[in-house]
Amino acid sequence: MYRTTDEIKVLRDPIHGYIHVSLQAVWDCINSSWFQRLRRIRQLGGANMVYHCAEHTRFAHSLGVYEIVRRMVTEIPDIVSSLSEDEKVTVMLAGLLHDIGHGPYSHAFEAVTVTSHEVYTCRIIEENTEITRILENTRKGLARDVADVIRHKSRNPLLSQMISSQLDADRMDYLLRDAYFTGTTYGEFDLERIFRTLRIHDGTQLVIKESGVYAVENYIMSRYHMYWQIYYHPTARSYEYLLHALFRRLADLHDTEDPSLIPLFHPIALKQKIGLDDYFALDEYSCGYAFESLTHHQDGIVRDLALRIRDRKLFDYADSTPVTNRQLRKKLREAGFDLNYYWGKDLVSQKPYVPYTGNSDGAIWVQMRDGSTKELSNASNIVYSLIHGPVQDDNKVFFPADTQA
Ligand code: ZN
Repeated sequence: MYRTTDEIKVLRDPIHGYIHVSLQAVWDCINSSWFQRLRRIRQLGGANMVYHCAEHTRFAHSLGVYEIVRRMVTEIPDIVSSLSEDEKVTVMLAGLLHDIGHGPYSHAFEAVTVTSHEVYTCRIIEENTEITRILENTRKGLARDVADVIRHKSRNPLLSQMISSQLDADRMDYLLRDAYFTGTTYGEFDLERIFRTLRIHDGTQLVIKESGVYAVENYIMSRYHMYWQIYYHPTARSYEYLLHALFRRLADLHDTEDPSLIPLFHPIALKQKIGLDDYFALDEYSCGYAFESLTHHQDGIVRDLALRIRDRKLFDYADSTPVTNRQLRKKLREAGFDLNYYWGKDLVSQKPYVPYTGNSDGAIWVQMRDGSTKELSNASNIVYSLIHGPVQDDNKVFFPADTQA
C-alpha cells in the first residue's frame, strides 16, 4: 500500500496545534521546491499594509488545509467508512497542493497574467514537475486524480466538496488563520463543532447535522466579517491597485530594453503567457527585488509607482460618486497625473453565502432530524435573512493622496 514515513512527522502550527504527516508522498511534496516556493508568497495580497502581522504564507495555509482534510478522513466516521484508501490519499494531497499554482500578491498579480492560478496549479501537478514525479511514483494516475479533485472533475464528488465548496477545508483554514494573524476575532468559529456534526448523505453529499447549524451560522458570519474587515479593506485594495497599475504600465510601455526591468518581468511587459520555469521564479522575494530595481526605471510613472509600493506611499480613497469623481479627475489632470494609472475605480460586493440554484455544487446542506435534507438557507433564519437582504457592496476610487479636495 502507500509508503509511510519512518515516524509521524509533526509540524507546530498556531491554528491546528500540530500538522501530522505520515504518508511519504505528502512529506516528499512538502519538501519539493515547488511547495517550498510557497514560503515566499504571502497568503493575503495587501492586508499586511493594514494588519502588520498578516505576513503568513501560502505554505502555512496549504499545510493547514491538508491537516483539516487529514482529520476529516481519519476522524469523521462517515468519511472514514465511505472513502477508499486511494481516495483518502488523493484528497489529502489535493488539500496540500490546492494552491501550489498561486502567484505573488494574491489576486493583484493574477489580474495581469493571462492565466489563472487554478490552471497553474493543475499544470504544476500534471506537467512533469518534481511534484508530478512524486505523485506518479506513488501511484500511477495519482497526479491526474489529484488535479481532478481541484478542477471538480473527480469521480467521487465528495472529494471536491471537502476541498472546495462553501464549507470546505480551504475556507475553514484561511478564515481561522487570517483571523489569527491579523489579530481580529471576527474570523473565529467553532471548527470542532463543525467536525462533530459533519455527515455524508446518500453517499454523495457532505451535510451538517441539524444540531450543527449554529456553528455553521457562526462560520458564515465570520466569513462576512472577514471580507469587509480584511479582504476588502480599502487600504489593502489601494495597495493592490498600485501593483496592478505598475504591471499595467510595464505592459503598456512594452519596453524590455530598460536595464532596470529585470528579465523576470519581460513576459509581463510583453503580455506573454508565463511558462512554468519563469512562473517558478516569480515570488514576492523576486518581485520585491524587481520593484526596487524599477525605482531606477527610465519611465517616470514606473519609477513613481515602484517607489510608492516599496515605501507604502499608498493612494488615498473616497466613495465613488459622480460629483467626487468629476472633481477628483479635474484636480488630477490639472496636477499633471496620467489618469490611466493615477485614478482607479473598484467596486466590490460579497454574498456571505450563495444558496443552491440548480447548477452549483457548493451549497451547504443540513440533515434534519427526520433524515431529510434542507439547503442551509431553508434551515437557518439568519442565513435566510442574509441572502434575502440587500447585497452589500463598496464602491471606491483610488488616487494620489496629495490631490484630495
Ligand atoms: Zn487556499
